[in-house]
Amino acid sequence: MHGSVAAALEPRFTLHRLWQEDDPDAFLRAHGPSIRALAVSTLAGPVGADLFDRLPALEIVANFGVGYDNVDIAAARARGIVVTNTPGVLDEEVADLAVALLLATIRQLPQAERFLRAGLWRDGGFPLSPTLRGRRVGLLGLGGIGKAIARRLEGFGVDLAYHGRTRQAAVAYPWYPTPLALAEACDTLIAILPGGPATRHIIDAAVLAALGPQGVLINVARGSVVDQDALIDALRQGTILAAGLDVYAAEPEVPAELLALPNAVLLPHVGSASEHTRSAMGHLVADNLIAWFERGHPLTPV
Ligand code: NDP
Repeated sequence: MHGSVAAALEPRFTLHRLWQEDDPDAFLRAHGPSIRALAVSTLAGPVGADLFDRLPALEIVANFGVGYDNVDIAAARARGIVVTNTPGVLDEEVADLAVALLLATIRQLPQAERFLRAGLWRDGGFPLSPTLRGRRVGLLGLGGIGKAIARRLEGFGVDLAYHGRTRQAAVAYPWYPTPLALAEACDTLIAILPGGPATRHIIDAAVLAALGPQGVLINVARGSVVDQDALIDALRQGTILAAGLDVYAAEPEVPAELLALPNAVLLPHVGSASEHTRSAMGHLVADNLIAWFERGHPLTPV
């Protein structure tokens, strides 16, 4: 978690750092009953009933991230525990990254750079790449970040469409009622929707096949939304052209089969990972806890 969280909390609260404890179990036995708040990172593993059972005085979980599929919301609700996340402050950063990954994947920028560094340029130019021109881009998820991606892509002159569970009256882009219908209408799919059981493997072999042989998948959502084995097959067999991924099924593990694919551009979950934006997220985590304990109202409850 960004250092801004501890810096803002330390002067006001007694702060424990569970990940620094040699024996977390003994720590929870000794201090669990007095813990009233948790600040958690999306990468720290699941936060649910097992942990809540050991923290009977817990009032609030402040999640460092807008996606909160790491927190069992039903278990929190059952105990009256408030959960907060960090919406809004990272939309532009993640949208920048999504568009960068889209361009890098289609124009093969990492491959071109590797070609130059390998000294191959003298032997002839880098092979011609596919193009963004004429593409129809489907946004799977059109929330805060999806809309920030769409605003950018309007400047690129591509057609846009989207799928969410509900059609948005104020949005002019065509809406498709299922991920499959969206994929059938597009050749480029950008996943930017929440993870968790409701969206698990929402991008499966059929959705990938519907994108077609020029198809490109960009996943900046969560690894769980894609059937990763089906994606590897589709990339291997040319069912789709290429994929750009920021997230994976079992982070930080990335399967060797993916690493071996020349038509995959792979990033280590860096969507919001700038100093500027991680600091803004950290301040919002701390401000949620401060608002809860000082005024009884968190700023951004989920
Ligand atoms: P929002 O809540 O603003 O938007 C979520 C969108 O997903 C909405 O359009 C919603 O539409 C749609 N959606 C939600 N559930 C479903 C479903 N079951 N089926 C289809 N569509 C669904 O979230 P954000 O835009 O702020 O963030 C989206 C996600 O991006 C986060 O939850 C997180 O997982 C991921 N993320 C990844 C980052 C990275 O580093 N790579 C950084 C930040 C976020 P509707 O309600 O109509 O279904």
